[in-house]
Amino acid sequence: MNIYLNDSIFRPIVKAIAKDKLSCYVIGGYVRDILLGRPSKDIDIMVVGSGIQLAGRVASVLGKGVRVTVFRNFGTAMIKYRDYKLEFVGARKESYSRNSRKPVVENGTLEDDQNRRDFTINAMAISLNEDSFGELIDPFEGQKDLKKRIIRTPLDPDITYSDDPLRMLRAIRFASQLDFTIEKKSLKAIRSNRDRIRIISFERITDELNQILLCNRPSGGFNLLDSTGLLDIILPEITAMKGVDVVKGQGHKDNFYHTLQVLDNVSAVSNKLWLRWAGLLHDIGKPVTKHFDKQTGWTFHGHDYAGSKMIPPIFRRLKLPLGNDMHYVQKLVRLHLRPIALVDDAVTDSAVRRLLFEAGDDIDDLMTLCEADITSKNDEKVQRYLSNFKLVRKKLVEIEEKDHIRNFQPPIDGELIMKTFGLPPCREVGIIKNAIKEAILDGEIRNDYREAYDFMIKKSTELGLTKVNP
Ligand code: ATP
Repeated sequence: MNIYLNDSIFRPIVKAIAKDKLSCYVIGGYVRDILLGRPSKDIDIMVVGSGIQLAGRVASVLGKGVRVTVFRNFGTAMIKYRDYKLEFVGARKESYSRNSRKPVVENGTLEDDQNRRDFTINAMAISLNEDSFGELIDPFEGQKDLKKRIIRTPLDPDITYSDDPLRMLRAIRFASQLDFTIEKKSLKAIRSNRDRIRIISFERITDELNQILLCNRPSGGFNLLDSTGLLDIILPEITAMKGVDVVKGQGHKDNFYHTLQVLDNVSAVSNKLWLRWAGLLHDIGKPVTKHFDKQTGWTFHGHDYAGSKMIPPIFRRLKLPLGNDMHYVQKLVRLHLRPIALVDDAVTDSAVRRLLFEAGDDIDDLMTLCEADITSKNDEKVQRYLSNFKLVRKKLVEIEEKDHIRNFQPPIDGELIMKTFGLPPCREVGIIKNAIKEAILDGEIRNDYREAYDFMIKKSTELGLTKVNP
């Protein structure tokens, strides 16, 4: 079968291989995606010979100033040209040892190179050679699998996954991204090789997890991670939420399936990776706070706080970033019950101001998470809760317009307090600063310099301080 390769980017490559009649192919994800009708700009070029040398030749055909980035350790090279990312690799043959996912690599043929690929749909190649340009080389019936929407390994799945266990996560990631099914034999092999995932670094694991989280409906991927036993190894905090306990005929909801539903709900309205992480982790404090009360039934008091405390160790283990992104996830988990308390008609402005202050610019994301957290099967209930949150959003907007609390910096800072009372940095400065903040949030004074200044004088008199500077 011939594939019509009409992208002009292939012309300089054809020119570069012509002189020495190099055997060269486009291979992997680009071929898969073109057959799925979604051509990409990310192109893997495989040559029987040196990928690094070929990249150099292509760069000189493309013209002056085109840079080649060489990855000597991998024997590959990359060119970024216009919107394209071209990766060059020499055909290789790989053999694995038991303790590492790093294979012994030798130069190989096109066939060797296709044999080392992870899935049949990723092993197809299209010839760039003059005499066979556009010919599809599909030794494992990848095209058929694309039609059947199946993820299948070219060789024995048991060996494929044991050789490089990262492929287990890749299988789930591709199934989830493409909405494909993993072949039964393959799924079984993933299950029996699941412990091999322990030889993979968390950086690689997390990279796949993030891609699964960014799918249209991430629950598909997480259900597969769960049913294969991988989730238990990678994120036991999530599988700990599985199951329903029943006491005196009373059960609680299964927080694992609830979480997956929340994750899908968040994903339906937002592409933000960290908001999706917050959706995934928002209830992880439930298993440790679960309690059955004779009067009220099942409770999870404090699961918001307990959950937020569990996040740094998870981020550290998964090698996720420990800065602002983690603090954002922690904040959303910690605050995810607070908007519910604002539904009440009698809620004070002060409660609204406090939430605005604590959530800051993340208040809209917090509301999105809360709305996604409604997973009742009773539609009437869902509509009622949603309209309650609509009112909360309205209150938040009204108070923010009036008091500007979202990015609130108290109008009097520590410097001014120290200068006014001739103080070094000390406990009293903190007490006054905090009292000003509290007075503003409580509505005792307005968010205004003059009022805050007068309040500071009043507070400092109570503390026995005297003004030394006006
Ligand atoms: P995407 O860009 O959507 O992630 P891709 O298929 O291009 O898809 P890459 O990770 O860039 O994914 O890999 C490129 C190709 O390299 C794959 O199509 C596959 O043929 C091969 N490959 C990548 N990782 C592995 C692996 N762990 N084992 C075997 N082959 C792999």
